[in-house]
Amino acid sequence: MQSQQFADILRSVPLMSPEQVGVLHKTLPPAAHSAKPDAQGESRLLERLKFYFDQHPVCVRCRSTHVNRWGTKDGHQRYCCKDCSKTFNAMSGTPLSHLRVREKLDQYVECMDGETTLRPAARRCGISLDTSFHLRHRLMALVENDSYGQLSGIAEEDETFFHESHKGDRNLLIPRKRGSRGQRKSRYAKAEKKISVPLIPVMVACDRSRHVLDAVLKKVSTKELQSQLEGKILPGSTLCLDAHLAHEHLAEKLSLSSKTLVSTSGERVKEGIYHIQTVNAYHSELKRWINGFFKGVATKYLQRYLGWKRYLKTHMFSIEGFLDQISIHWTSSTHNLN
Ligand SMILES: [Zn+2]
Repeated sequence: MQSQQFADILRSVPLMSPEQVGVLHKTLPPAAHSAKPDAQGESRLLERLKFYFDQHPVCVRCRSTHVNRWGTKDGHQRYCCKDCSKTFNAMSGTPLSHLRVREKLDQYVECMDGETTLRPAARRCGISLDTSFHLRHRLMALVENDSYGQLSGIAEEDETFFHESHKGDRNLLIPRKRGSRGQRKSRYAKAEKKISVPLIPVMVACDRSRHVLDAVLKKVSTKELQSQLEGKILPGSTLCLDAHLAHEHLAEKLSLSSKTLVSTSGERVKEGIYHIQTVNAYHSELKRWINGFFKGVATKYLQRYLGWKRYLKTHMFSIEGFLDQISIHWTSSTHNLN
């Protein structure tokens, strides 16, 4: 909200009748900025989300808004859909459903600053490493698919690659080791040399106003890039690209003008302003964060980390800001996280 608009509202409060103050009070969500849960041990974040959902309850199965209240269970208000009879609560069908450590959720939001790894987060909140992992992933899932506006002006697009990773996968088939230790060592050393770890392409597009688009790709192709960028760059923008076969007709298919940089020939900037250094700097930042700070992440979670980084890149992290971002999914009658 514009600070002027906010100032106008504040100025009008003393002029309101007691009834109007009552109405205003009812529209405010429960305070959720405290790191501590309330006296009953309930998460203030969940209380806020439940408050928003209660304003516009929607059936989790058929999206109908014809919904009745249906008693409470485990501290949550339940609802029943008049159209399909499904019963549900405000968290059903979201990453926060069946959450068992509700009282630690508010405190864990503090650890979503992008500068806290799982172990320090677990120590800070007094939880196990497993719980720390689950809370982080549930909170990451809430912002994973959020976008923060179209790219505009000078946009840049390029791909980077991450090694395929199965980090944390306990079901991996490990080949049985045979032979003496010495034999094993030489055999595995030779085998390791032969194994080439597949590379996973990640597309990043950004503009000069900190808007970011990203996606894990199956392969770098015009078709896939087009499907990821279609409708997400404002008409009239200029797309800067590296010279690559997949980029050749990309801008044309997106109905945008383009500037192609031949970096292999040392071409870094065109006409003084067109380059792909912003997106390449983002690649470096992403790699330092994922490969360096987190020591790699499993490929199946790569998109989730991209979403978290996208949020951190476009917002100055604050607990209240993160809670506001999450709340968006519960404030609209068309909210949907799946
Ligand atoms: Zn329904």
